[in-house]
Amino acid sequence: MKAMNIAVLGATGSIGASTLDVVGRHPGRYRVFALTAHASAEPLLALCRAHRPSYAVLSGVPEDRALSEKFKAVGAELLFGANALERVAGDPACGIVMAAIVGAAGLASTLAAARAGKRMLLANKEALVMAGPLVMRAAREAGAEILPVDSEHNAVFQCFHNKESVRKIILTASGGPFRSTPLEALSAVTPEQACAHPNWTMGRKISVDSATMMNKALEVIEARWLFELAAERIEVVIHPQSIVHSLVEYIDGSVIAQLSNPDMRVPIAHALGYPERIASGARPLDLTIMKNLSFERPDEQRFPCLRLAYAALRAGGTAAAVLNAANEIAVEAFLGGRLPFTGIARIIAETLAAVPAKPADELASVIAADAQSRSWAAARVLAQAA
Ligand code: NAD
Ligand code: MG
Repeated sequence: MKAMNIAVLGATGSIGASTLDVVGRHPGRYRVFALTAHASAEPLLALCRAHRPSYAVLSGVPEDRALSEKFKAVGAELLFGANALERVAGDPACGIVMAAIVGAAGLASTLAAARAGKRMLLANKEALVMAGPLVMRAAREAGAEILPVDSEHNAVFQCFHNKESVRKIILTASGGPFRSTPLEALSAVTPEQACAHPNWTMGRKISVDSATMMNKALEVIEARWLFELAAERIEVVIHPQSIVHSLVEYIDGSVIAQLSNPDMRVPIAHALGYPERIASGARPLDLTIMKNLSFERPDEQRFPCLRLAYAALRAGGTAAAVLNAANEIAVEAFLGGRLPFTGIARIIAETLAAVPAKPADELASVIAADAQSRSWAAARVLAQAA
């Protein structure tokens, strides 16, 4: 079998590292074609030394001759700027694209991979939140295959057969680090506390999203487009152990779930190998040492972001892009010490109320809504600090 070329967008991140770990276990099966990072040149160079891709991309760095020479010495042609992401994602020589850039910054390259008909391993949930119908349509038209990497969506994908007989899907959420913190203490929690997730080690933005449950809110929207299900048929339940990754309920009362230890290499290996199964390196699940798998309903007062996702879906059009952009601004402000934790949901709610939803059938309208939401949310952050 000829090795398949893979481009890993966001290679220096948490999902990037897990992907390269799995890929490295199957050297005859996959060949690393391109690796990208935003600005971290040295970590990217180290990855290039280890994985020998044809291309490396630094999307947030201006052209730099000396840097190019360093990458050339390890066999990689170094490309600069955000356009290079689309170029490697759509390169005819590359069959698989891991979309693992964080945030709206991943939209253009995710869309490029869809338009080029790739096998897409989709971690960049924000692209589907902002422009779900556009990305799904592009993939359909070009014959791209979207395999979800988000552990919940990957679990649903594994349990989802015969759509007509599905009653609903149930996404599990860990509840994050503040599941039982007294409500009145939430306004004083620090970024370090928010990023200390009990079950998963992830990038800082998604860690804060998990603490506010905005991550689950984004995942409800992601699921809406991936599985083409109305929002009323997508439910969220808190499951603090993060062993059951999600469930599908059928009209006969059967519920099918996918279980594993919390390790992103499991969904990544599933998406890489599909329809075959390949080794991931994850520790097998020992059912006999599991004392308790518990489930509870999310508390709306503690996690107001969840309600905002359903509201954005009801509003339709660009509302989800507005929600996503306001969240990115609010999370950045929280991580920078400019906004209290409880301000995140407040900024998003205010932005959703202030920026009107418009039809989202053109990429340009989505990008305009994203920009409008960012400037509005940033102004609100400033006003609250004053
Ligand atoms: P991370 O912060 O660890 O890594 C982000 C990567 O994106 C880095 O390689 C960084 O260089 C690159 N990047 C950052 N800003 C960029 C920009 N403006 N332009 C181009 N590249 C940029 O993030 P992560 O935790 O690996 O998450 C990546 C994506 O996967 C997110 O969409 C997240 O929601 C999703 N996801 C992550 C996990 C997880 O366990 N970490 C689980 C499910 C889904
Ligand atoms: Mg997830």
